Amino acid sequence: MDKKIVVAGMLLPELSEVITKMGEPGFRAKQIMEWVFKKNTLSFERMSNLSAALRQSLDASMQVVSLRESRSVVSADKTVKYLFQTRDNNVIESVFLPESKRATLCLSTQVGCAFGCTFCASGANGLARDLSADEIVSQVLLIKNANPDTPLTNIVIMGMGEPLANYEQTLKAVRIMNSPDCIGIAARKITISTCGLPKEIMRLVKEGIQVELSVSLHAADDELRTSLMPVNKKYPLFELMNTAKEYIRQTNRIITFEYVLIKGVNDRKEDAQRLAALLSRIKCKVNFITLNELEDRKMFTSSPKEIEEFKQILDKRGIHYTFRRKRGRDIQAACGQLRMAHSS
Ligand code: SF4
Repeated sequence: MDKKIVVAGMLLPELSEVITKMGEPGFRAKQIMEWVFKKNTLSFERMSNLSAALRQSLDASMQVVSLRESRSVVSADKTVKYLFQTRDNNVIESVFLPESKRATLCLSTQVGCAFGCTFCASGANGLARDLSADEIVSQVLLIKNANPDTPLTNIVIMGMGEPLANYEQTLKAVRIMNSPDCIGIAARKITISTCGLPKEIMRLVKEGIQVELSVSLHAADDELRTSLMPVNKKYPLFELMNTAKEYIRQTNRIITFEYVLIKGVNDRKEDAQRLAALLSRIKCKVNFITLNELEDRKMFTSSPKEIEEFKQILDKRGIHYTFRRKRGRDIQAACGQLRMAHSS
């Protein structure tokens, strides 16, 4: 693919400017956006209310999306994992999770990841580069186009990469997804998941956009968290928790803390007690994630008995939690896993 302007990365005023410079009336931009974002049309050729001449010049100078689907795998539970190829031949992945009346899409924001969490395949080869806003939004458009009968209701930005380390492009993509002129998903249905970057979390407060924030915690003491998430060395729990409290105070919103239960590592009774103590005065909820097992790293899921004991300790301390249903295990739907399998 050559470097053309990409509609997926533009808000209406930007597209209007481009269209006006082409000598066309500004309202054409709105028509193009309707085709792309509302009618899932990925080719200018099919935009039948535009003149043939305009369609030709759009085709010559612009493209709708900047990714190409290179592979998709469907799980027995209908989860679909997509691999997309970028214009510079990198491979990224997204996961589509349809349910009866809703569907969630998990997006990537970087090629690889610099943060190297030990339970995550995305960081295994480090960071190659940030994705642009058009590449982030292209994931949504291509998957919407492939699933026209399933309404996309929720976006979670917790695929490959650390979204807040690619702050500008991620926020631009969020604005495009949220804009009624574009995809029009309510901000509260968009979740940004971070490994915990304090400065960027506080920057998010000032954006005035009511997205959900989820913070990967995975351990309630510094030594263990640093061993699982090296970022904890730079931003230890004390700093992260102070940031979380300040975020909650200023936004009056809750934070979800993600916690992946790993057998014998962070699922012991003392881990549950420390977690309950750490979160006891914070307006939050914990979302437990079942580990997608990584044989080579000797990390395994907790047993039902261990999970039950962990839950009981949190119940006693009044900590709210949810368990995320394990999906797409047969297709390596955990972040980074399919991409690794693809490139090995
Ligand atoms: S969990 Fe998130 S921050 Fe950590 S390595 Fe994976 S993608 Fe990066």
